[in-house]
Order: sequence, then C-alpha cells, then structure tokens
Amino acid sequence: SMATRIDSLVKEYVLKSETVRALQGVSFDVPEGDYVAIMGPSGSGKSTLLNMLGCLDQPTSGNLFLGDDNISLMTDDQLAEIRSRRIGFVFQSYNLIQQLTVVENIQVPLYYQGKLGPKQRARAVELAEQVGLGDRLDHRPNQLSGGQQQRVAIARSLVNDPYFILADEPTGNLDSVTTDEILALFDQLNEEGRTIILVTHEDDVAERARRIVRLKDGLLYSDEPVEESRRDA
Ligand code: ADP
Ligand code: ADP
Repeated sequence: SMATRIDSLVKEYVLKSETVRALQGVSFDVPEGDYVAIMGPSGSGKSTLLNMLGCLDQPTSGNLFLGDDNISLMTDDQLAEIRSRRIGFVFQSYNLIQQLTVVENIQVPLYYQGKLGPKQRARAVELAEQVGLGDRLDHRPNQLSGGQQQRVAIARSLVNDPYFILADEPTGNLDSVTTDEILALFDQLNEEGRTIILVTHEDDVAERARRIVRLKDGLLYSDEPVEESRRDA
C-alpha cells in the first residue's frame, strides 16, 4: 500500500522551563492518489507535521504510517533511508545544486543510493521531458527561470517513485503566471496518480488541491474537500 495514515499524532518540544505541545493528537488519512493542502496560522503545527511526514523527526506519541512502515517505531538510520528513498521533497527555494545540470540534479536522490548508470540517466531524462524541460537537459540552474528550476525540483522529487510529493510553499518565490504553470503541473501529476501533500498559506494555491486540512493550535480544525467548481476556477 502507498497510503499514509496519521493517527493521534502528538509532538512535544521539551524546553528548559516548559513543554510545548506543537501537535496535540492529529489524525487524518492520505489515500494514494490524493492531493491535500495543509493550512493553518503561524504556530499551528504545520512545520512540525511536515517534518514528521518528511521523516525528519518522530512523534512523541501516536503513529504515522507510510504504507506499511510505521515511522514512530523506526531507528534514525531507517528514517534516513525512507527519507532519501521514498519522500519527494519540493521546497520554496528549489534546493538545486548549482554545479550540476538539469539531468544531474534530477538524479541526485539516486546518487545517494549509489545508483548512477545509463538506466538512471534515461529515467531522469524522461522525467525532465515530463515536466517540460526536454530542451534544457544540460542547462545549469542559473541558466533557468524560477519556474523552470522548480520544475527540476519536481522532477527530482519523482525519481524515487515516492509515497508522496511533499511540497512546502512550492510557489512562494514565483510570480502569478509561473505559479499557475507549476500548479497545472501538480494537477497533471495528480491526474496521473501521484499523491501530493502541499503546505501553503495561500487560499488560491490550496484550492487547487482536492482537499484542505486546517490545523489550529496543534489540533485538526477542519478537513474538507475542495468543490470541483473552485478547483477549476
Ligand atoms: P507552523 O509551521 O504552523 O508555524 P510550527 O510547527 O512551526 O507551526 O510550531 C508549532 C508550535 O511548536 C509553536 O508553538 C512553535 O513555537 C513550537 N515549536 C516548533 N518547533 C519547535 C522547536 N524546535 N522547539 C521548541 N518549540 C518549537
Ligand atoms: P522553511 O520553509 O521553514 O525555511 P524548508 O522548506 O527549507 O524550511 O525546509 C523544511 C524542513 O526540511 C527543514 O526542517 C529543513 O531542515 C528540511 N530540509 C531542507 N532541505 C532539505 C533537503 N534537501 N532534504 C531533506 N530535508 C531538507
């Protein structure tokens, strides 16, 4: 199974004088093929949840299942392995390596696994074509627009066949036209069956998802589908 299950997730940060409960028992499922936007005011627990979905941190209690893997029970090494092999990260700041070409950047997650043959290059080329960069294969990031750089990051996020694309404010650095292009690409990937989890504070961006989960004070505040009419608007 490729579904994600967030079950009674609690995260506490222990400080010198107090304990902060950043998540106070959050539960929701992300079925394979879903497209979820996570929203909420500053301090509501979005980053904390994102860090756990990205296997960068573990909950204090509760369970987080990625497929059959329970993240809560893993060692740091197991967590690092899932993070590099099964999560597709997309960040506001693209996080590309300036010295590498488009195709090489897309292959970076494979490089960490020591897998870099002709087959892997062919896969990276195919993904570059899928995101509309078939004519930019040997360009470097500084020769690309912001939107093109984000396309490279999205192609990179797919190279490992991840449980989901985990996108943190992916259009935060882009103008409105380019934002629309990137959101259209997410639509296309979701139509093809890719699961997308997106954190954003922009209503327009969130409404392109199939569903909006809102956090407030570390609790799930609402979990509602987005009407088709709004998605198409
Ligand atoms: P959001 O991303 O919605 O702004 P966060 O997950 O960053 O929310 O924060 C949720 C709560 O947890 C806040 O009260 C924040 O101050 C606290 N918090 C987040 N990270 C840490 C940390 N590393 N140490 C202590 N408190 C933290
Ligand atoms: P922010 O938007 O809050 O500045 P980022 O979106 O850059 O943060 O990163 C979110 C989280 O992911 C952070 O905890 C950061 O340490 C981690 N992170 C950043 N870059 C990577 C990466 N290339 N691979 C894995 N984790 C990363």
